Amino acid sequence: MKNELALYIHVPFCLAKCHYCDFVSYTYSDEAAGRWAVAVKQELALWARLPVCSGRTLATIYIGGGTPSLLPAETLGSVLTAVRRNFAVYPAAEITLEANPGTVEPDKLTEWRRLGVNRLSVGVQSLEEKHLRFLGRRHTAQQAEETVQAARAAGFANIGVDLIYGIPGLGGREWADTLRRVMDWPVTHLSAYALTVEQDTPLGRLVAAGRVILPDEDEVADQYELLLEVVPAAGLKQYEIANFARPGHSCRHNLNYWLGGEYLGVGPAAWSYLAGHRFANPAEPADYMGLVASGTTSFHLAAPLEPREELVEALLMGLRLRRGIDLAAFQQRYGVDLLADYRPVISRYVRLGLLEMVGGFLRLTGRGLLLSNAVLRELV
Ligand code: SF4
Repeated sequence: MKNELALYIHVPFCLAKCHYCDFVSYTYSDEAAGRWAVAVKQELALWARLPVCSGRTLATIYIGGGTPSLLPAETLGSVLTAVRRNFAVYPAAEITLEANPGTVEPDKLTEWRRLGVNRLSVGVQSLEEKHLRFLGRRHTAQQAEETVQAARAAGFANIGVDLIYGIPGLGGREWADTLRRVMDWPVTHLSAYALTVEQDTPLGRLVAAGRVILPDEDEVADQYELLLEVVPAAGLKQYEIANFARPGHSCRHNLNYWLGGEYLGVGPAAWSYLAGHRFANPAEPADYMGLVASGTTSFHLAAPLEPREELVEALLMGLRLRRGIDLAAFQQRYGVDLLADYRPVISRYVRLGLLEMVGGFLRLTGRGLLLSNAVLRELV
């Protein structure tokens, strides 16, 4: 529905930086979190007055980071109160909070429920202590399980877990064992991503210096195949390249991204997509706070996307979904007949068994999933 909007709130604080991470995050302090909350509340009020947002109803709210679970409950509560003061929120809105093991005390879980948070996304990443240390995570596997179990005991019925594979030294048996153990927990959702090495990170520097050797592509592909085997067998259906859910528990907020829906992002470095503009807030807290204090939003600084940019992005996002791209809806929205306009490349991939047509949808085949990076790259 046109009136619906998704809201992303970026919490740019962590206990310490993980070795592989290039997200925008700073070391947590109560003082910095307090200043962040003041600015986010001001930003929400600015957006609510702009025609592009006013009168719209939030269908999903995603509090991501960073490590949002570090925030004191009263700080988070004051931000969510500001959200509700400035925007209507559907009673059944999905409200997700990202939580890292080791930062979740039982009374925080109760407070989050009281504040309306109804979905937790827990950053587990690995169940091997050596890999947690390699990644620079500040928690143990046991803390990860305790977090999930405590969340369930506190009444959370929708709990997602994030895992990473393709870690140097991770064997197929260990990976399958990790997946099976996590599937025994009360989880409704799993996101699993291959480790990516970003240049400007401690891991990136170790790889560049030859001190860490990454697993080869075949090994990573084998781990992805294990994922496709073990997780659906436990009852979580794949709905996106890297995402699996029990029936009715797909992440509605992320589905909105993949389906090309509009969203508003608040907080430093948060991205928005509104009225054909895609733009980000300044990443540096001082720049971000300066922008908000001046009474302006990043929307004023953004140029509209070129039609081709929107189309390419819709194509890339749509093919990530297991159901694929609804060709009729795509043509209606972007004025492009994909099968006609991209005939040579689509026909080639269909012949190679990497793309297929299923009831008016164009999607990756099972084999196409394994080679999705290459297919998506060539399509654009
Ligand atoms: S907890 Fe998440 S956001 Fe924070 S440093 Fe680690 S990976 Fe990055």
